[in-house]
Amino acid sequence: MGWPTNPQTSKPTKPLVVDQNALRHTFERAFGRAPEIVAEAPGRVNLIGEHTDYNGGFVLPVGIDRTVAVAAAPAEGKRVRVYSADFDARDEWQVDAPRRTGRREWRDYVRGVAWALLDAGYELRGADVAIAGDVPLGAGLSSSAALEVAVGGALCGIGGVEVKMQRLALLCQKAENQFVGVQCGIMDQLAAACAREEHALLVDCRSLQVERVPLPDDVAIVVVDSKVQRALGETAYNERREDCVAAAWALGIKALRDASERDVGPLPEPLNRRTRHVISENRRVLEAVAALRSENLNRIGKLMYESHASLRDDFEVSTPELDLLVELALRTEGVIGARLTGAGFGGCTVNLVERKAAGRFEAGIIEPYRAETGLVAEMIVCRAVDGLRVSRLR
Ligand code: ADP
Ligand code: MG
Repeated sequence: MGWPTNPQTSKPTKPLVVDQNALRHTFERAFGRAPEIVAEAPGRVNLIGEHTDYNGGFVLPVGIDRTVAVAAAPAEGKRVRVYSADFDARDEWQVDAPRRTGRREWRDYVRGVAWALLDAGYELRGADVAIAGDVPLGAGLSSSAALEVAVGGALCGIGGVEVKMQRLALLCQKAENQFVGVQCGIMDQLAAACAREEHALLVDCRSLQVERVPLPDDVAIVVVDSKVQRALGETAYNERREDCVAAAWALGIKALRDASERDVGPLPEPLNRRTRHVISENRRVLEAVAALRSENLNRIGKLMYESHASLRDDFEVSTPELDLLVELALRTEGVIGARLTGAGFGGCTVNLVERKAAGRFEAGIIEPYRAETGLVAEMIVCRAVDGLRVSRLR
């Protein structure tokens, strides 16, 4: 799987983000034995390129130092036992017969990854598995993809199965789409699998080509969780996807990736606005990559604010709270750019910030946001970390 660690040595090349001792203890308490492997995958934040992934376009995510980690050891026979530390709950099934619970819960993500691997013809073996993570659930930082990719890495590691990162990402997406029953593009799983320390990932969601773009070291990425639950998120997300499919169909193209500026105009609304967003957002991603490469931070900031405006006005996935967080960021000294990130309808903003300015967030953004909305937004200063890492413990 292009292991970032050498399976022959007992030490990973770099320390994992997770506290390995704590995870080892969790595993030992759950199963009364020692784990043999730890797999860890990060959540992600998307710098720019929103609602472009399922249109075959471009995205620019960063793997963050909030991760889901999985400790595992092979077991005799076909039994898989799973313990979730965060839900303090267990699961058990026969490795070649994972079934849906019908409740769309954490167990389904784990079983779904096994299902997708089996469906692709890989042979898995019985295992004990313990899971712990600190990616906030449902905040738009993609805890689900981190979980899937970490579980995939652990099951492959235990079963001696070699899968390329891209393929694993696709199988995890398939698990989420077809087994769990949640529509999502490929960005989240690719970021969880392929992210790179101190880099953003330019992903072409059609070819699945991934290019690493170095991040300037004097900027910080700050995520602000609006604490607005994505209540109608799923329905609205599916509606936006349907709009994009309808627009592409009306234009006679495969996906909105293939649309150009002259396609904006003839379509009925809201398809016209949706198309304009996708076209302009894809252009902004490529411009942001060029700006990152030339360290033109002002340009990136401007592109982020433009992206937010387009998501608010053309794609209509913002909320008054997200708009307020972006407004406040615009007025806070040292913030280079800000926009909503993730599907929208609540969730988080991503802010690119001069490192020394992260300390101004409390007074400049969190406090005025609380005064106006009564909500206590949470800020997470992120470090860009590697995607899936698997290390053998002995
Ligand atoms: P997100 O935006 O965080 O991906 P989702 O609703 O897609 O939100 O996925 C969240 C779900 O993923 C949780 O409800 C849970 O079922 C599963 N999950 C994520 N992280 C963990 C974890 N550390 N342990 C167990 N399940 C997890
Ligand atoms: Mg998710």
